[in-house]
This record gives sequence, C-alpha cells and structure tokens, in this order.
Amino acid sequence: MMDTSDYKSFLEISGVGKSYIEYALTYLNNNDALPFKNGIYDGKERDKREKHLSLMMLNKFIKMMGEGEDAETLLNYWNTFRHIESRIRGDFHIHTIFSDGMNTVDEIIAEAEKIGYSWIVFSDHSPVKGNSYRLDDEKFSRFIDETGISSGKTSLSVYKSIEADISPEGVLMFPDRWLKDLDFIIVSMHENITDYNKTLRRIETAVKEPEVKVFAHPFYGLEHDNNTDYMENLLDILEETDTAVEFNFAPQYVMRNFELLHRCRGRTVKFVLSTDTHFLYNLYLMRFASAFSDLFHGDFAEKNLNFHENVYF
Ligand SMILES: [Zn+2]
Ligand SMILES: [Zn+2]
Repeated sequence: MMDTSDYKSFLEISGVGKSYIEYALTYLNNNDALPFKNGIYDGKERDKREKHLSLMMLNKFIKMMGEGEDAETLLNYWNTFRHIESRIRGDFHIHTIFSDGMNTVDEIIAEAEKIGYSWIVFSDHSPVKGNSYRLDDEKFSRFIDETGISSGKTSLSVYKSIEADISPEGVLMFPDRWLKDLDFIIVSMHENITDYNKTLRRIETAVKEPEVKVFAHPFYGLEHDNNTDYMENLLDILEETDTAVEFNFAPQYVMRNFELLHRCRGRTVKFVLSTDTHFLYNLYLMRFASAFSDLFHGDFAEKNLNFHENVYF
C-alpha cells in the first residue's frame, strides 16, 4: 500500500506548482476532501487560473490514489524511468494558454528543447460556446500567429493542430476556415460514453475527414467494465481509415495503455505517443512511455510505426 509519505511524490507527477501540492497535502493529511468548486474559472488572471487548474488536476490524482493499485505502480514507474527515452523524438498532444493549458507556446518550446526533442505538436481544444478554456476565433488567430513566430526561432519542427470534439452528427466542432492554417487534426471525445454504437458511428464519420490523423485518449469516458467490443470496433475503424490511435501518458491512462498495446498486436493500426500536457512539467510524463519502449520496439513496432520518430505522417 502507498504510504502517506509517498503522497507527495505521487502528487509531484501531476506537474502542478509546489504550493498547490502542499495545499492538497494539508487536506489529505486530515483525510478531508480537497475544497473544489466545479465548473469553469472564467477570469483572465493567471494565478487564479493556475489555482483552478491545479486543483482540478490534483483532484484527479487524489481520486486515483483512492482507486487502488494504479497509483503505486505509477509511482514505481516514475521512479524507475528517470529520463525520456532518447528514441522518442517529440510529443503529439500539448495544450497552451489558448485553451486549458497553463503555459505559452514559447515556454513549452524552451522545455522541449531542453528535453532534446526534434519536433512538437500544439493541439489546443476546439471551441465550446461560453467556455473560456477553449479556442475561439480571436484566440485561434493568436495561436496561429504565435506558433508561426515561435517556429521561426527554434530548431524544433513545430506542428499546428487542434484537438477537435465531434458533434452528435460526427462533425468536427470548429469552423472550416481554420483548416487552412492547421497541419492536421486530432479528434477525441470528452463525455461519458454510454451508447457504444452511436459513439462509434460519430467517430467513424469524423475520422473519414482527410485532415484527421489521430484519435486521442481512446479510454476517455469509458467505464472499467467490459468494453472489448467497443475497443475492437474502434481499432477496426482507425485501421480502415488510416487514423493513428494515441497512447496517452496522462496518469489516468498509463496503465490502460497496456491493454491498448495488447489490442493493437497483430493489427496494422498506426499509433502516436503523447503526454496531453496542460502544465509545463507534464511534458515529462513521457517518462512513462519509456516503460513501454521495449514493448513498442519489437515486431509490433516495425510493422506499424517508426518508434524512433514517434511520428507517422
Ligand atoms: Zn482531451
Ligand atoms: Zn488534450
């Protein structure tokens, strides 16, 4: 079992600021729930935004600690794999202040340079009306301008993408006019998935769009119950449409990636490795991918993806 003294180390994986971790620990030590208001912080002040996002992130971690062995296993992996595998050349899924991330494009690029990456993908969230944590027209044009200027100042290849939600009809939830400025599209679902068949039809329609190259965090919204048929059908669709499935190394998905890897064996589905970064130090979640590197590097990898590049298009 995880010891109280491990809590701090575990929370540090979250990548949020130390003061928020200390704050969360005072509640944990008293066995109290973290005081947390649901909903969106709608202001522009960076410190309030950071507090809100940090508590949201820490709540996820505290929930994981309460849910059993995963937290302990993650902490073990975290302590075992101290570095990002040098064969991993980039990160496919990163958020910035233009949606619900905490950092600027330049801050992320500077850290990615320190890691030694060759390339990076910015993928802020598609719009939701009234939600200030999402892109809108004004933020999108700044996103494109800033990534453009920043890519001129770095040796990294900077890709512009968007993490697009899918409407009930299977339509990508952002204006068509944005397409011309983007290198490719990542799609994902952000809701509790109850009707597997309906969801699969939505995904199938969306990934047929030629610009869509990746389906992100395939386990979002799925219960831990038996979803074998759903996952197998999803992988069929991705395989048929030449869409990559994402191995997402946000902590809540790390252990489920073993299941995904197992399901991908014998298939020709492509895949990408991502951290889904919202805080700068989330970039180091790619350390978890190192736990998978030997598994990726066998027969499976040769058939599907050049793992050395972590890029397939
Ligand atoms: Zn997402
Ligand atoms: Zn994301």
